[in-house]
Amino acid sequence: MLLSDKYPFLTNYFESVIKSNPDRLAHSILFYGNDIESQYKMALEIARLLNCTGDKTDECQCLNCKWIREGKHPAVLTISRVDNKPDDDSSKTVISVRQSELIRNSLITSSDFHRVFIFCDRDDDGNIRGLNQFNFQEATANSLLKSIEEPSERVTFIFLTRDKDDLISTIISRSQCFFMPTRKRADFSYDKVLPVIENYWDINRAEAFNFSEKLETLTKEEDAVIVLEQLQNYMLAVLKTNPKQRFLIDDIKSVELSKQEINIGMKSDTVFDELCLKLIR
Ligand SMILES: [Zn+2]
Repeated sequence: MLLSDKYPFLTNYFESVIKSNPDRLAHSILFYGNDIESQYKMALEIARLLNCTGDKTDECQCLNCKWIREGKHPAVLTISRVDNKPDDDSSKTVISVRQSELIRNSLITSSDFHRVFIFCDRDDDGNIRGLNQFNFQEATANSLLKSIEEPSERVTFIFLTRDKDDLISTIISRSQCFFMPTRKRADFSYDKVLPVIENYWDINRAEAFNFSEKLETLTKEEDAVIVLEQLQNYMLAVLKTNPKQRFLIDDIKSVELSKQEINIGMKSDTVFDELCLKLIR
């Protein structure tokens, strides 16, 4: 499912502002709500629209759009306790004051790009998580305030959190805040993927890409992450009745990695191809 189907109001809003007059976009944006992964996707989509040199569509193949989808755009940076730290920064649990200073200093020079800094947390498995007062402390937030208040041209700060009360008020008061409702379904069903995944361990290795294509087809109706979650649900259900099938545990982990790849914006067909080569032995 496309972000624009999931959050039509928000995507329309950002699209129209950026297309008509990007200067009207707030320099500091805060998303809050339980679905941090969708917040992160929305942040990347804003960064893409701001930097796209093509037609701004979901399929645009301009270099900026490609870089952002691949997570390697030089001016679109995720800032977390593990991402984009100075080499000799030994802080492990927080976004450090030094990270904030690094950003401040980088803004002194001009850039060809619209720079976007996405502030969030990341857990030990690499999943995007929200900011709170432990991982994003007052000293770090305060050292950013000046950059947010008197922003350089073409710079946008985006903050992701579950609950606005988890962030210090000085950031909230300087940001345009958007609530993102949860659309995630927490269930254990696998009805959508069953026709494709049933007894997948019997599928011949030569059929791996065919299998991948079938999974890709499912994403026309469902979000790729939901397809992957249903794969995991199926594997878990089989594992419960065949606890000795240890390979299922490896497969569940492989699918977890694929979910993370989707969440950082990799294209689903590439992710499914790689996954199927692992699942179809
Ligand atoms: Zn583009």
